Amino acid sequence: MDMTDQAVMITGASRGIGAAAARAFAAQGARVALLARSAEALAALAADIGPNAIAIACDVSDRTSMGAAVDKTLQRFGRLDVFVGNAGVIDPIGQLADTDPDAWGALIDVNLKGVFHGMHAVLPVMQKQGRGTIITISSGAAHGPVEGWSAYCSSKAGAYMLTRVADKEYRQHGVRVLGLSPGTVATDMQREIKDSGINPVSQLDWSDHIAPEWPAQALVWMCSPAADGFLGDDISLRDPEIRRTVGLI
Ligand code: NAP
Repeated sequence: MDMTDQAVMITGASRGIGAAAARAFAAQGARVALLARSAEALAALAADIGPNAIAIACDVSDRTSMGAAVDKTLQRFGRLDVFVGNAGVIDPIGQLADTDPDAWGALIDVNLKGVFHGMHAVLPVMQKQGRGTIITISSGAAHGPVEGWSAYCSSKAGAYMLTRVADKEYRQHGVRVLGLSPGTVATDMQREIKDSGINPVSQLDWSDHIAPEWPAQALVWMCSPAADGFLGDDISLRDPEIRRTVGLI
């Protein structure tokens, strides 16, 4: 898929799925804005990708920070074709009544409000352009309960509903909004889950997880009209048919 000159913003691009996505989009010719809190990791990745990448330190839970990142991307690229709301955290993990309420709220600030802040900042730009794609990174946890993950499941269920509402409101303006549920992916987040030992996901063997390059490739494919049948919904990368369509198997 040729994405030459298209401008793609990715939150949570300092490692894991976001970093792999940045490389995948850049490999198709896109210009990529890399967002996360770890400025050093972002700068290293941007240097590795080359002049088509910019690193922008940003905390998605802070709407001012998110808005400034969108402004910087527009100043540099002059347009915004794709926004990937990928930044996410898994902690706090624990039984609901044992969970610190402030930690619970802090996760919601990143995983749910962070997605809202991103959409809130980019939707007016895309509406004005009359085109654009917004992809949220969803999870099986958006659709079913997992022991010890009250904050994470609630945040992902909320982000899934944001995806649906944004599609309902903005499809008519040419903005495509959809989610990717990647299955389990071999990243730092799965290491934290393994260390918790609390539920069946933590018991999975490392070889059960897919590589971050798989969701990265799926994200690129989701920017094409071939994925239009999924607008306003999640695409599950557990689905063998989807894996085949994306070219992963
Ligand atoms: P990861 O390796 O832990 O990476 C998480 C990314 O989010 C990092 O780049 C981190 O960067 C960034 N981030 C965290 N808090 C942030 C904040 N406040 N502002 C900006 N960036 C922030 O995890 P991952 O597995 O790649 O996860 C990426 C997404 O996939 C998440 O939404 C996750 O819920 C989802 N997901 C993952 C799996 C899985 O099995 N791994 C499965 C389903 C869904 P900094 O720390 O530098 O800010």
